[in-house]
Amino acid sequence: MSDSRHTKVLIIGSGPAGYTAGVYASRAMLSPILVQGMEPGGQLTTTTEVENWPGVNEIQGPELMVNMEAHAKAMGCEIIMDIITDLDLSKRPFTAKGDSGTTYTADAVILATGAKAKWLGLPTEEKFRGFGVSACATCDGFFYRGQEIVVVGGGNTAVEEALFLTNFASKVTLIHRRDELRAEKILIDRLTKNPKIETLWFHEIHEVYGTDSPLGVEGVKVKHTKTGEITDIPAKGVFIAIGHAPASELVKDQLELHNGGYVSVKPGSTETSIPGVFAAGDLTDHKYRQAITSAGMGCMAALDAERFLAEEH
Ligand code: FAD
Ligand code: NAP
Repeated sequence: MSDSRHTKVLIIGSGPAGYTAGVYASRAMLSPILVQGMEPGGQLTTTTEVENWPGVNEIQGPELMVNMEAHAKAMGCEIIMDIITDLDLSKRPFTAKGDSGTTYTADAVILATGAKAKWLGLPTEEKFRGFGVSACATCDGFFYRGQEIVVVGGGNTAVEEALFLTNFASKVTLIHRRDELRAEKILIDRLTKNPKIETLWFHEIHEVYGTDSPLGVEGVKVKHTKTGEITDIPAKGVFIAIGHAPASELVKDQLELHNGGYVSVKPGSTETSIPGVFAAGDLTDHKYRQAITSAGMGCMAALDAERFLAEEH
């Protein structure tokens, strides 16, 4: 049965940006509805230790997100498990359709849909995805106890995943296309000190190979980015950690975007190209992409929405 709900503020997304917007919009007495999406808690639910959330030396990502959800709820935010499949920003009230059949109408919308893992785009990567190829070490690392693993990428995610995977793997090879990592120095230091990790510079995955029955990975063929030479690395697990792309599909034809899909906001604010629509977190940010910066933008979006609604009445 289809159902219809109206709210002053609809928050789409349940990462640090969405939940912080939920806390602030609730405290502004706006009775917000927050729709969680397919990944309640967002990207931090796919990691282990978070060591840069101020006030807590170390906390597990999923625990931090459960705390944020409880905080938003305690302040009065209504949290709904649903996925927005369609969003119409052409007229007000704005209309969002949920996968559950519910239609949400809202006077203001806060977009906090974050980002999704990028893939290399190789046919053999696609073939073995879920059968040896993964983008989430915390989800799948346990399957590779005592096995050899490769990780692709040179950012914080790749280095953290390589370090985490040494808890299970007999050996981890980090494959990077350059000879310099863009990860933080503290992580690089841990990487170089870890005897289970070998770094392969100037290489890219050319092909993932394995068995068909049962479907499973046996290794990767890697290509030297300068010489083109192909070599073989045996591995049971292949973890792709080459960054994330903004989840802007819902609004890509409705809002101004920048840097290949990030939602544009006016400098120093969370206002998008449509009045009443605000954007926060990794969805708008190609530069910092941190939990704390996303939370900060979630706060700004709720304050911007409050001001927008107050000016109207
Ligand atoms: P996200 O966390 O990406 O959440 C997006 C939300 O939107 C999700 O809840 C999703 O379900 C929802 N959504 C998407 N589409 C829809 C839809 N159609 N309908 C409804 N909801 C939808 N940052 C740090 O500061 N410290 C760290 O230690 C750290 N570690 C990390 C480790 C890993 C492995 C990764 C991948 C990232 C890490 N980051 C870390 C970065 C941090 O996770 C992100 O910057 C942050 O989560 C972004 O928050 P966000 O709220 O913008 O979006
Ligand atoms: P990222 O910083 O964008 O790094 C992506 C890496 O993948 C880069 O090294 C890049 O190589 C490589 N790459 C991209 N496309 C590739 C391709 N097609 N083939 C091979 N390699 C490819 O992404 P991220 O590591 O996921 O981090 C995203 C954001 O989350 C960052 O802001 C990061 O700081 C944050 N984060 C923070 C933490 C933390 O604070 N502890 C942990 C994880 C993530 P080049 O270097 O050559 O471009």
